[in-house]
Amino acid sequence: MNIDETSRSPTAFARLKREHVVVVVIFAAVLLSLMFSSTYYVGLVAVAGVNSIVVLGLAFLLATGQLSLGHAAFLGLGAYASSLMTLKLGVPPLVAIPLATALCAVIGWFLGVLTLGMRGHYLPLATLAYGMAISACFVAEIDLTGGASGLTGIPSLGLWGVSMEARGMATLIWAVVVLVFFAYRRIYRSRVGRVARALKSNSTMASAFGADVARVKTQVFVLSAALGGLAGSLYAYYMQFLSPSSFSLGASVNLLIMTVLGGVAHPLGALLGVMFFNLLELTGQHVIANVLGLPGQVESMVLGAVLIVALLKWPDGLLTWAGITSSYDVAHDVPVATVRDTVREPATLSAKGVTKRFGGLTALCEVDVNVPAHTITGLIGPNGAGKSTLFNVMTGVFPASSGGVTVSGQPLPNKLRKVISCGIARTFQHVQLVQELDVLQNVLIGGYSRGKSGLLAAAIGADRHEEAGMVAEALAALRRVGLLEIANTRISDLPLGSQRLVEIARALMARPSILLLDEPAAGLRSPEKQRLSQLLQSLRDDDGMTVLIVEHDMELVMGCADYLFVLNYGSVLAEGMPHEVQQNSDVIHAYLGAEA
Ligand code: ADP
Ligand code: MG
Repeated sequence: MNIDETSRSPTAFARLKREHVVVVVIFAAVLLSLMFSSTYYVGLVAVAGVNSIVVLGLAFLLATGQLSLGHAAFLGLGAYASSLMTLKLGVPPLVAIPLATALCAVIGWFLGVLTLGMRGHYLPLATLAYGMAISACFVAEIDLTGGASGLTGIPSLGLWGVSMEARGMATLIWAVVVLVFFAYRRIYRSRVGRVARALKSNSTMASAFGADVARVKTQVFVLSAALGGLAGSLYAYYMQFLSPSSFSLGASVNLLIMTVLGGVAHPLGALLGVMFFNLLELTGQHVIANVLGLPGQVESMVLGAVLIVALLKWPDGLLTWAGITSSYDVAHDVPVATVRDTVREPATLSAKGVTKRFGGLTALCEVDVNVPAHTITGLIGPNGAGKSTLFNVMTGVFPASSGGVTVSGQPLPNKLRKVISCGIARTFQHVQLVQELDVLQNVLIGGYSRGKSGLLAAAIGADRHEEAGMVAEALAALRRVGLLEIANTRISDLPLGSQRLVEIARALMARPSILLLDEPAAGLRSPEKQRLSQLLQSLRDDDGMTVLIVEHDMELVMGCADYLFVLNYGSVLAEGMPHEVQQNSDVIHAYLGAEA
């Protein structure tokens, strides 16, 4: 792969600066409070730090479409586990903190494996259930935890034999917040982070590009549980006293409110949510109790009302208010790769006797379709003929009811995520782009199966080299489909035609030998269609790709396809060279209508 030195225009730069400003403001405010404010405020800042650590994990979880209503339980587990290790077993705090974090990770893994297969409302209900069950244990185990009256006598954290006072401990907590935040910011934009965030609405697409959905979901859950445990153990050594009410359902709900309030499209949302929530609570207390002299209940009502208004005004969280999007900060200065990447082995794809039934409906009946190597094969037919269903069977999205699919003579793997490693990449008739990611990050998902870096590598920045290569290639793929200029645009700002081109760029990122395109020209204008036709021919001739295309635009199909299959009512009605098919009377009758 060569790198060409065309630098990108600094479109991401303006947005980037805003993010930096917010980070600096938040951390500077915290630092000033830690240095100059009274012990009372230092306490608030310390608790805000603890919450920030949990909320960062919770936000990632929510960004992957998983809702946890019991996350304070992990906070409590971390707090009680570390304190009890110190109190009963004499484990020094600095050892107990990582042990308690690891314990929460293990428990999180166990609960994750048990619950993540659940769909719809069942997952949040399960998280609610274990949240309540775990916090009930803190009350019930009186001998161990001190029950409802709490656990006392927890020592403060000591460094080099000197025990830390409140201000030092709060500073330590915020040092951890800074570390977690920056590690997390890297994870968010990493190979696994992007795919994790795709799972909320596009898990089929993520699998089709090689992601093990269950594994990625479990990883994110474990990470968030571990962060809960870490935060809890820091909290314990700061407070030196634990009350089970700090880890109740109410605490879980507050954490969730902070998460939603901040927004999950960017890691900064977590910090914004925690800050805003705490400031609101503090102001409410001051104004309502001290200035107006009203009872505490009024404060809760006002707080609730303000939160509702804030969420109505900024449904995607305070990130929208701060103008922060999840733009990709490396894009503006990364050179575009000139990829004439792999020399492809000739690859064929064939369906033999494929039948697909959906309940009583037979969408495909004994279909034989052969896509020879280095050709563009067209698949046409009226709406509802079964073209997309055949696509889904040929790419492993659905298993065939009977019959089989082979890739270069080998059977198609039975797991969707393994199909990409046979060199098959596709686009979707109903565009499957991740709305929360910009164009470039969507295209990068296509390279998932070729990458190796996991969450840990991303957290410490060890994926930098791999990412830089991928970004350069993704930009090249975008240039190839004519969209280089909009690499940092949000998906929702693109017309449907361009979204389809982004899907093609994403498929190219996988460096496939076989490319399947489901109605790629729908929504394109005439010059764009010509470009698409040229692109397909270049992929066949220059890259040696095998292409299967479903398309309604006859001019495009007739112009570039080498061979055509016509589907009608789930069966192959005709096949042949484009000009033969064009003159086939059955096809004219079934497809083009009687008047043609
Ligand atoms: P085409 O892409 O040629 O327009 P499709 O393959 O989408 O047609 O659909 C073929 C038939 O299969 C239609 O009758 C459609 O309603 C049905 N079908 C497609 N997918 C499903 C599904 N997931 N469940 C049930 N029926 C389906
Ligand atoms: Mg279709």
